[in-house]
Amino acid sequence: MVGRGLLADLPGLLRERCAAHTYAVISDSRVAELYGPRVIEDLRAAGLRAELFPFPCGEWNKTRATWADLTDALLRARIGRDGAVVALGGGVTGDLAGFVAATYLRGLPYAQVPTSLLAMIDAAIGGKTGVDVPAGKNLVGAFHQSRFVLADIETLATLPKVHVAAGMAEAIKHGVVADAGYFEAILADAAAIRARDLAALERIVARGVAIKEAIVAADPLEAGRRQVLNFGHTIGHAVEACSGYAFAHGEAVAIGMVAEALLAESLGAAHPGLATAVRGALERFGLPVTVPSDLAADDLLAVMQGDKKVRARSVRFALPRRVGEMAQRDDGAWTVEADDERILQALAASR
Ligand code: NAD
Repeated sequence: MVGRGLLADLPGLLRERCAAHTYAVISDSRVAELYGPRVIEDLRAAGLRAELFPFPCGEWNKTRATWADLTDALLRARIGRDGAVVALGGGVTGDLAGFVAATYLRGLPYAQVPTSLLAMIDAAIGGKTGVDVPAGKNLVGAFHQSRFVLADIETLATLPKVHVAAGMAEAIKHGVVADAGYFEAILADAAAIRARDLAALERIVARGVAIKEAIVAADPLEAGRRQVLNFGHTIGHAVEACSGYAFAHGEAVAIGMVAEALLAESLGAAHPGLATAVRGALERFGLPVTVPSDLAADDLLAVMQGDKKVRARSVRFALPRRVGEMAQRDDGAWTVEADDERILQALAASR
């Protein structure tokens, strides 16, 4: 559900679609401060039991340690099997709270209430939950579908501008992997989005959600076409991890998309001009588009080879053919292999 002012509907929706004795509202520290008291008060005013469980904000806290702290806190609060989780926040909160919901007492129902643009368009949809570990991002987790996703566009009024841009990286990705018309609509709305115009944001979120929903509904466990959503993420995850999470996730994906578009062109998988188009769109939002010079190519490659998408030795990438269409191999697979030399060339070309 996407719209303005929808937070007011949360108590009714929980009662209807995610009935529970007590709701554990999990939120990072920033979102907990901004929206936690209001959500808890609304739930209690509607006669529901609810408690807020904050954790320190930042990607570097999406860890097993934070998962352990949260699950211990739920145990101390005696949340039982008749409880439910509400993930209130950005993608970090959604992944972490979703993983708590997937594992606590062998699994509780939960609802996603995304408050960042990235989480609304991408992270809150599709049931992937998990945490980062020293070997890489999202390597420990579970598929666990939420009962519903409620995106109140008004919460974006407080989102820092850098995170509006980061969210647009995933929107641009949705356009590149599935819908050239959406890609064009993003460019047409760029100025309004940068100004955080809520009507423009609502349009972009609603259409982005529809794209992701269609892809994950057809392939919930990522056995096939859902892999296209990993475009930009193989190199992006490596940039994110090697930089010590100095980049927001969306910023790292932006860098990854340009490098992977260059790789697609060099492999002959993509039509020439793809990388220029992708870079141009990302630049409209002030996103970074080059691999930082202080990140050693060998270190990036090592992270990619430890990536969960690696099947044999060479690294597999989800690569576009052109904006709006992904490359598919003759055997139907949605990933393309690249050897080390090609990857190193693409990294060098995107510095
Ligand atoms: P985030 O959750 O860290 O949020 C970014 C920042 O914005 C945080 O500081 C947060 O406190 C703040 N914030 C969020 N909403 C706010 C609001 N309304 N007002 C003010 N501040 C607000 O990061 P993110 O970019 O939302 O998500 C990135 C994460 O999502 C990564 O860990 C990534 O791996 C994950 N992800 C998951 C999926 C999936 O399918 N599960 C898909 C894409 C990304």
